[in-house]
Amino acid sequence: MWHRTGMGHIAGDEIVIVTGASRGIGRAVAERAGRDGRVVAVHHGRATEAAEAVVEGIRRDGGRAFAFRADLAAPDVGDAFWQCYDAAAGAAGFGGRRPYGLVNNAGITLRGTIEELSREDFDRQHLVNVVAPYFVTARGLERLRDGGRIVNVSSGATRIALPDILGYALTKGAVDAFTRTLAAHVGHRGITVNAVAPGVVDTDINASWLRGDQAAADAVAATTALGRVGVPDDIAGIVAFLLSDDARWVTGQTVDGTGGTAL
Ligand code: NAD
Repeated sequence: MWHRTGMGHIAGDEIVIVTGASRGIGRAVAERAGRDGRVVAVHHGRATEAAEAVVEGIRRDGGRAFAFRADLAAPDVGDAFWQCYDAAAGAAGFGGRRPYGLVNNAGITLRGTIEELSREDFDRQHLVNVVAPYFVTARGLERLRDGGRIVNVSSGATRIALPDILGYALTKGAVDAFTRTLAAHVGHRGITVNAVAPGVVDTDINASWLRGDQAAADAVAATTALGRVGVPDDIAGIVAFLLSDDARWVTGQTVDGTGGTAL
């Protein structure tokens, strides 16, 4: 049984791994973790230059960070992810240290109603949004510190019915189930597992229908209690709380991060 001693945790030494951190919500989460004194492991899939820019930005602000690359759609995703992580952590001088936090942020949205979504797109979305966080976490559990944190990025689409992203909503429903059940499994180690469910956030994932379309942004704002489209920092703040010591008594929860959309 894990007991909180209040000793032995030096905030600055806490490695937080953020998947899909080269842009969007993951980037904001990584930058915020850097400002909070974590050592940030900036994971990316292909965007090496963008990930290095995130690392440089965190360092410029006085933080510590390193980047690593791993394809989350790869068949051997769990083991391959940690091999890539180990190589980069070692090269950056953080080898052998137990990570404190894992933020499973990376995800894709492939649009289409139940009549439209192809089997190929359904499978790919499932691979990146469900299989990857499952096996990255599964192969990482032993490495995580007792008293550590797992934060999964879900979606408001599990609560709000959006038929043109049904296949996506299904993957995020799985993330919520994963969060709740895993929390019960690892709580004896003092590890919390929570999710955040963003509403519409202005990132590349929504570029095709939101960017530069004021009418679309207005429509989202009109159904949102707080009256606007979300920005990545809105979500980074929630993740920062879930990663913090103040959230030590919160586990198995999906925190709504929609600004009150479709209340
Ligand atoms: P984004 O497209 O800007 O970022 C997604 C990230 O995931 C990118 O860094 C991308 O490289 C990474 N990724 C995708 N496929 C990958 C693969 N095969 N291997 C490695 N990395 C891969 O979008 P975002 O809005 O920042 O999305 C972040 C998370 O937030 C996702 O899980 C998304 O489902 C969730 N979300 C976003 C919104 C929104 O409106 N933006 C709403 C609800 C939930």
